Amino acid sequence: MRRIASDDQIKNALMKSLQNSVKTLSELHRIVSKRLYPYAVSLKRLKLVALKTKEIDIKIKKRVLKSRYVKNCPVCGSEFEKKYGIDVFGKKNHVGYVCKECKFSIGLMLEIPYRYIFSRK
Ligand SMILES: [Zn+2]
Repeated sequence: MRRIASDDQIKNALMKSLQNSVKTLSELHRIVSKRLYPYAVSLKRLKLVALKTKEIDIKIKKRVLKSRYVKNCPVCGSEFEKKYGIDVFGKKNHVGYVCKECKFSIGLMLEIPYRYIFSRK
């Protein structure tokens, strides 16, 4: 049985692994898992710890789903907040959603991440 790594262990392994940018979450998971051995981290937890780490920059490529059903953030699972813009007539318009936690933002259609690019700030 592999033991579960702590947040700090994961952060350390992340910082060491990101000397160069890493272009996918699964690649990052492979590199970090090697460093953490014999401790283990799941893909999802690795992503959440990376999101919380200020020194790490995550670029998210996303694609639009043909759905207006928007509930929770597809990146971290937190709630979305409505985002407003001001139109040419000075009126407040609902233009999309932004996540309260990780600041992932989308338009009115649901967008989901298909690739994460990780680097150090
Ligand atoms: Zn989020």
